[in-house]
Amino acid sequence: MKDTTTLYQHGTLALLVPGLLAGTLTMAELLRHGDTGIGTGEGLDGELIILDGHPYQVNAQGEVHEVAGDFTLPFANSHYADYQPLMTVLGASQADLNQQIRALAQLDNAFFSVKITGLFTAIRTRAVAKSEPPYQTLAQAAQQQQIFSRGEVEGTLIGYYAPQLYDGIAVAGFHKHFLAADHSFGGHLLDFESVTGEVAVQPFSTLAQHLPIADAAYRQHDFSGDDIVGDVRRAEH
Ligand SMILES: [Zn+2]
Repeated sequence: MKDTTTLYQHGTLALLVPGLLAGTLTMAELLRHGDTGIGTGEGLDGELIILDGHPYQVNAQGEVHEVAGDFTLPFANSHYADYQPLMTVLGASQADLNQQIRALAQLDNAFFSVKITGLFTAIRTRAVAKSEPPYQTLAQAAQQQQIFSRGEVEGTLIGYYAPQLYDGIAVAGFHKHFLAADHSFGGHLLDFESVTGEVAVQPFSTLAQHLPIADAAYRQHDFSGDDIVGDVRRAEH
């Protein structure tokens, strides 16, 4: 039986803040902990979304490619999908959607995933261009981002919600990645105007937090001078 109650997380968003962007986990290893997920590649190499066991990367040119097992990541989430239907939405705005999910799911203090399949209008995503060592900070690297938009597109949004008390380890609130049904568009979700489709959620009772303890830069970094929460919030929201 696959464990559908555990959210696996490799790295933390906090370690991206000072530029600890080395790929410290392979995609093959990440897929041993789930068939669904999101993440970013080494040096913030694009935005990853895993659907039904297939890992797709949206690169800084906006192209979508499936990545190989040896692709490496500094940060990722994955889990085994067991979504339960929550609601159908008709032309819901992003703010209304988030509010309705939180009101209906009643999971404010839990980790959970949300999967939204449907038609999105005026959607904007971003993907960051890969940087090479010596790495810049997250705030500097995030300026290399490309923004993509579609007036209307069918697709799937995979998101993770982290409770407020975990702000910094994850982004408190929602972190969502999108993939178009025809794989012509995707990335880290910035915003959309409306969505019509199905919303499903999956709560997790356990967070499996995996850290890159073999990485010398991670072991030696002193986080006391970093504005972890502030920089994560500016880069990821
Ligand atoms: Zn993201």
